[in-house]
Amino acid sequence: MASKPHVLIAGAGIGGLTAALALLQRGYDVDVYEQASKLAELGAGVQIAANGSRVLRALGLEKELERIVCVAAGKEVRIWNTGQTFKLFDLGEDSVQRFGAPYWFVHRGDLHAVLRDSVLALKADAIHTSARCVGYENMPGAARLKLEDGRVVEGDCIVGADGVHSRLRQQMHGDGASEFMGIIAWRGLARRAVLSTELQRLVGTNWVGPGGHVITYPLRGGELMNFVGFGERADWKVESWTTPGTKEECAADFTNWHPLVHEIIQKVDQPYKWALVGRTPLDVWVDGRVTLMGDASHPTLPFLAQGAIMAIEDGFVLARCLDASPTIEDGLKRFQNARVERTRKIVLGSTAAGQRFHNPVLADDAAAVAYVAQEWTPEKTRTRYDWLFEYDATTAPV
Ligand SMILES: Cc1cc2nc3c(=O)[nH]c(=O)nc-3n(C[C@H](O)[C@H](O)[C@H](O)COP(=O)(O)OP(=O)(O)OC[C@H]3O[C@@H](n4cnc5c(N)ncnc54)[C@H](O)[C@@H]3O)c2cc1C
Repeated sequence: MASKPHVLIAGAGIGGLTAALALLQRGYDVDVYEQASKLAELGAGVQIAANGSRVLRALGLEKELERIVCVAAGKEVRIWNTGQTFKLFDLGEDSVQRFGAPYWFVHRGDLHAVLRDSVLALKADAIHTSARCVGYENMPGAARLKLEDGRVVEGDCIVGADGVHSRLRQQMHGDGASEFMGIIAWRGLARRAVLSTELQRLVGTNWVGPGGHVITYPLRGGELMNFVGFGERADWKVESWTTPGTKEECAADFTNWHPLVHEIIQKVDQPYKWALVGRTPLDVWVDGRVTLMGDASHPTLPFLAQGAIMAIEDGFVLARCLDASPTIEDGLKRFQNARVERTRKIVLGSTAAGQRFHNPVLADDAAAVAYVAQEWTPEKTRTRYDWLFEYDATTAPV
């Protein structure tokens, strides 16, 4: 392209900010429009496997992130009632040796703050808050972003990074098919120092049980322990990440589970609950000078812990595609082509992972041991995860 386009981004979440940073670093002008009045993120953890940390390192964020992440020794699978433990995979040095990049557990607010500050360091007025985007318009040689307060801003192209309830996706595709999964998810944070010694271990744990599973992992250099619990329950259908619940209600979803699971439920500061909704992956998420990315284009169930990482990969690949293309339209199509197959595979793989974690056979003690030993062999684990972690968004063909 003769000159670098001016890119308008809807949404200053992890994906929108990664795209903004990757573009600013390449000399693009960028403006980000965020609905919230204050830039902030949820008090929750996010796992950043090697395919995400590789991108964050390429963006020059390694030093800052190393100060705030937690690098755990490994990940384990535990049986819901007996607590019997199986190794899932090693992390720490093993991730660096095998995939060339670390596996980080990080507080979402910390990651978001590092991305935000890096964007603002390159363009101090790049992020516009209290700016809810409600639609777009393709113009000859331009694209217009419409805000709820009546403003219309014009740029060369628009990136819809406005999350799972994306208004831009709604305009492009309508509401689309979605399916309530009959699963409630709980999240909360506990101070690690108040947990019993066994829960304080610096590992990621995946408790699997009939109709539910529980994930715990340490954050912020081990200061906090993240808790996420999934239970099959048909009566809660609100898909919001910020609805508070009670410890009693959360504990009731894990009746008869191991005392360590109940200990962490009692020690989280505030449990929040949300309903899981499945959506069919899109084949097309580009319309002229407008593209979607992250949860706006390929929302996923959280069972492979790859939603935020896909948004990070998207942001970097999008910048590479615009750089590599003669026109904006070509760059956006190139982006979609480069990403559609991988993201679809992750969304579908995530749904399959949930079924594996919740298998009814886990109700029987002897069958549970055989099931875990057979389902989480090193070979099966490598087949499930290596292709995710090996992908290099900084060099993948575009
Ligand atoms: C509890 C939980 C745990 C998770 N764990 C992991 C994990 O371990 N690893 C992982 O990779 N993924 C994980 N995910 C998934 C991951 O968080 C999401 O996939 C990721 O946040 C998507 O990033 P995004 O930038 O596309 O969307 P979001 O993070 O949702 O950001 C969208 C942004 O757009 C803003 N916005 C929304 N609508 C508008 C609008 N109309 N106009 C302007 N701004 C708007 C929002 O306020 C927000 O700032 C988890 C999700 C949850 C809920």
